[in-house]
Amino acid sequence: MIFGRSILSTFLMIETVKLSEGNLFGKIHRPVVLSDTVQRDHDVFVNKEIWNLAEDHIRAMMVNRDDPHGSNVPCSSPSAVWLQKQTSLVATDDLEKMLRWNLYIVPFAYKLYIANPVLYSQEYFGFDGEYTHEIREIYDEAQDFWSGSGVFDEVHLLAAHGSDLSDREKLIPTLELLFEGSYDKDFTVDDHADEIQELISRLPGGYEFPLLTFNAFATDEMGDDIDPSIIIGDGYFQFQKDSRNESEGPEYALTHEFAHHVMNAMGLSLEDYKKEELMADAFAAYFLANNSGGDMTGEEISNIHRVAYSVGDCGISDELHHGTPKERKCATVWGADFADSKEGRKLNARELYARFNTWFSDIDSLDNECLPQSSSSVTRNISAIISLMLLVPWLLAW
Ligand SMILES: [Zn+2]
Repeated sequence: MIFGRSILSTFLMIETVKLSEGNLFGKIHRPVVLSDTVQRDHDVFVNKEIWNLAEDHIRAMMVNRDDPHGSNVPCSSPSAVWLQKQTSLVATDDLEKMLRWNLYIVPFAYKLYIANPVLYSQEYFGFDGEYTHEIREIYDEAQDFWSGSGVFDEVHLLAAHGSDLSDREKLIPTLELLFEGSYDKDFTVDDHADEIQELISRLPGGYEFPLLTFNAFATDEMGDDIDPSIIIGDGYFQFQKDSRNESEGPEYALTHEFAHHVMNAMGLSLEDYKKEELMADAFAAYFLANNSGGDMTGEEISNIHRVAYSVGDCGISDELHHGTPKERKCATVWGADFADSKEGRKLNARELYARFNTWFSDIDSLDNECLPQSSSSVTRNISAIISLMLLVPWLLAW
């Protein structure tokens, strides 16, 4: 069962579309059957399954709009605060329609299912392509580094742009795919496209409004084929820019999503959402810090910790919870530190997974320094003994 806040987490977080059955796009991908249409008024063009998701989004966004953390949430999430600010800029009616019509998914669905694959080589990242070079460069390094893990030789790099919705030749076939069976002569797909474009014209920044594309996914489903890809929306880059995490935000997103493909190639399905997400964070940082991988400097790795913190969420009781800000940061701390250690430097993906498992077993007891409380208290005891040993000669002397 999916609750409102879990969907909020999905929306907020760097997200993996489940790499096999039951993924979010999979649900959208299937043509909507008329009998599943729950309401036939002009505000609802979705089948029951998508309708439930949309309802959850709406509730979550409305809750979030008033209070980014909800009540009794034991942490603070930078992405939730940013999201609240963005939603506060949109009129309530427009926000509700945006969510009800799944507009935050349409640019992703266009790219995955409608766009011509021939054009993939022309993909650019960020509103003006400002992250393209960075994304492609780190992708090449990740591909080399993980090549022994069984990951596909080519993972398509795709970008979701709100501006694609301004082109009727892109928008209309995507709407037909998503809402097939829900249009009739009284309300055609053209009418719907008109309303969508009018709505977007009222959003701050229009087609560049970041909530149209605030996500990133790893998926192996494109069109009717099994074909792996990573897709990152412009809104994600905007969030990182607004959070002053622009420098390493792109590398984090790309390598986190790439790690999902590595895990998939290893046949890992942990059935524990948070664990999978933290593992992707840890693998990403392990690669980025590794001398034979991203070879990032200490300062760059500190920025990676900050970026990971920024995408953490506080929906700890939700099925789709990805990890709190602290846990996500700690996963990258563990991965980067391990890559720097003598034994960690040259592990293959499976050995790394085994070590991650050991780390993860202490996840609930991490302190603010990312140390398991039990081990930090051991450390404290050891330092107390050392101090005492140092004092002993003095005591004896006296
Ligand atoms: Zn993920």
